[in-house]
Amino acid sequence: MSSIRQAATEVHLNLNVRGMKPSATVAINERSDALRREGRQVFKLGLGQSPFPVPSPVVEELRANAFQKDYLPVRGLPALREAVADYHRRRQGVQGTTENVLIGPGSKELMFLLQLVFYGDILIPTPAWVSYAPQAKIIGRNIHWLPTERESGYRLTPAQLAEHCEADPKRPRVLILNYPSNPTGLTYTQGELEELAKVAAQYRVVVLSDEIYGELNFDGKHVSIARFYPEGTIISSGLSKWCGAGGWRLGTFMFPRDLAWLQGAMASVGSETFTATSAPIQFAAVRAFKGGTDIEDYLVLARRVLSALGKWCAGRLEAGGASVPSPQGAFYLFPDFSGLREKLRARKVRNSAQLCERLLNETGVAVLPGSDFGRGPEELSARLAYVDFDGAKALAAAREVAPDKPLEEPFLREVAPNVTTAIDKMAEWLNAS
Ligand code: GLU
Repeated sequence: MSSIRQAATEVHLNLNVRGMKPSATVAINERSDALRREGRQVFKLGLGQSPFPVPSPVVEELRANAFQKDYLPVRGLPALREAVADYHRRRQGVQGTTENVLIGPGSKELMFLLQLVFYGDILIPTPAWVSYAPQAKIIGRNIHWLPTERESGYRLTPAQLAEHCEADPKRPRVLILNYPSNPTGLTYTQGELEELAKVAAQYRVVVLSDEIYGELNFDGKHVSIARFYPEGTIISSGLSKWCGAGGWRLGTFMFPRDLAWLQGAMASVGSETFTATSAPIQFAAVRAFKGGTDIEDYLVLARRVLSALGKWCAGRLEAGGASVPSPQGAFYLFPDFSGLREKLRARKVRNSAQLCERLLNETGVAVLPGSDFGRGPEELSARLAYVDFDGAKALAAAREVAPDKPLEEPFLREVAPNVTTAIDKMAEWLNAS
């Protein structure tokens, strides 16, 4: 080994990023693409990327603002911050102003900054999105997993939160709550959020409410915990999921007034790292957050397609022996194959990582193991993102079906053949002897 490489390795081993690997979602996407380039047939249910195009009025705005070349303020374009504050007021009745909004290059980056500036423990109900814990680990924060049960819809209970906090009531903590959930597709009822809010307020827990899938609640009636705990909740959102613009990298945080000090600290770190979020994207995002009938139409159709497809996939997997709650939002399912454990053991599949590896190698279906979402390795669970289809085509086809008519199996097989075939293949593979 050359001496420069040797020296670099030693430095690397001394950092607390030791043992870090690339994000599971990013890695499965790149691996799936590489396999496709080699000519393999791959069903891409790994990365959770919206299948739908960015709504055309938002694309038009981006086109019109391509010339915007100046650095913007680190906290974000004032017009966008105002549009985001209006949006949360309109949708959730949350009383914030322009001042309370922070814009960043993706909500993922903003979450990282929050964990960096907040000296406290990070509470993560599991199953949870793949990057919350690695972010805490990079920074060196204490992580506390709060495992949830399939039987209770993978929802954190108020009793569980209280039990955790009462051992050391004054400890500073951030609770990350994500609903509709990545990876389960489930969400909380208003009553459940009210109860959780009471416990969070009692122990002064900061709630990072990751509502990036809020607009993809299938009934269009997403409720934020900020309604019941406005003084302690930060709402995280962005363009990536409901606006089909993951690659645009635009995230938003809405702070309560009492947490302005956290916002200020994050903005300072932002000014020393990313400087400002892309200017043309911010100008275009104003249009997205202002909404209007064209964007609402788009969302109604997107929810309709996702709801029908998600429920079909869940039903098909259940019939194949998995346990999978019917989804309520987003574009994920988190099936548990424990009921097939004996059958799978006979085929030398003992944990979720082996399950997903074998699935990819033997069927071409790419999904992620439950262990990447904070579950024990032996739980035979997996996350699948039912997004491998042409979203533009699906929206156009759904528009032709009367709103009171369900989108049935033949429709789904026509507009999302890769997804339906992948689910068939999974079910067949699981039941092969
Ligand atoms: N949130 C998406 C997922 O869970 C992809 C983006 C990411 O992980 O950074 O698949």
